[in-house]
Amino acid sequence: MENVVIIGSSCAGNTAAIYAARASLDPLVFEGLEAGGQLSLTTEVENYPGFPEGIMGPELVENMKKQAQRFGAKYRPGDVTKADLSQRPFKIWIGDETVETKTLIVASGASARWLNVESEQKLIGHGVSSCATCDGFFFRGKPVTVIGGGDSAMEEATFLTKFATEVTVVHRRDEFRASKIMLDRAQRNEKIKWVTGAVVEEVYDVSQNEVTGIRLRTAANGKTWDHPTSALFLAIGHIPNTKVFNGQLDLDKDGYILSKGGARTNIEGVFHAGDVQDRVYRQAVTASGAGCKAAIEAERFLESLES
Ligand code: NAP
Repeated sequence: MENVVIIGSSCAGNTAAIYAARASLDPLVFEGLEAGGQLSLTTEVENYPGFPEGIMGPELVENMKKQAQRFGAKYRPGDVTKADLSQRPFKIWIGDETVETKTLIVASGASARWLNVESEQKLIGHGVSSCATCDGFFFRGKPVTVIGGGDSAMEEATFLTKFATEVTVVHRRDEFRASKIMLDRAQRNEKIKWVTGAVVEEVYDVSQNEVTGIRLRTAANGKTWDHPTSALFLAIGHIPNTKVFNGQLDLDKDGYILSKGGARTNIEGVFHAGDVQDRVYRQAVTASGAGCKAAIEAERFLESLES
């Protein structure tokens, strides 16, 4: 029987593991399908406090893991395939194996939605990014492209005009999903150019290991053309990793965990941390803060069981 099981091994899960381990709770972390989460897909991280020269994303999460292990946190590969939260101890399945735990911290994150074009996948971290806040700075003085027609695309495009010479927004339809205020703000920005009714067919140039352009195709007549760009920012939504908790944890319409305040969920003893609940900030440092909160709440909850 575990005291604390943590699902997810990015900033939220690893920080929860550091705090829970230092509270002598001997936490067990399931690393998930993408060990290290979204940070393991980025290159340099310059906005995580404490690293004046920046740090590589994979190194940052690996350091956190080592820090948690130093205090006794146990890490196991694997993804949770089933959960029974109907009573305590909670039951978690990893394939055929079952684990019982008094508390659970869900830090399984949200995966960026990608176009799933082969060349796009190969260039993630080399000009293809799902986070303008994280990577925009690297493209100072260069033209960049944002894909999407929602609020994220408008926000990222507007943000990127601080660095880029020109930002092209490519959207697959002619109508935008974004709220009027955010669309208006982007449309008033002279640095933003617009391509609508088009999709990305290919990202160049895998052989150079950097983004040099994209091939676009109009949805209407299939016409294709090349558009030079130094970076491709995907802003086509995120998918919270909450499928196994469907029907047990309260989720919003898009599958994000609904918080009951602090790190609490609708089930006593189950806590949330990071992007699995946060659709607004989605930063490494906010996820770490959330992991800290979840571990403190789990510790207090365990204490309350004993008293
Ligand atoms: P979203 O509203 O779901 O928009 C996703 C956009 O990506 C849509 O325009 C969609 O096109 C496009 N898209 C999806 N899959 C695609 C694909 N395979 N290929 C090409 N395009 C694709 O997602 P979001 O913009 O991330 O926003 C999520 C939520 O967060 C929203 O509720 C939003 O209001 C909120 N948000 C708020 C703020 C803010 O207020 N500051 C900032 C960011 C996000 P279609 O329109 O054709 O479906």
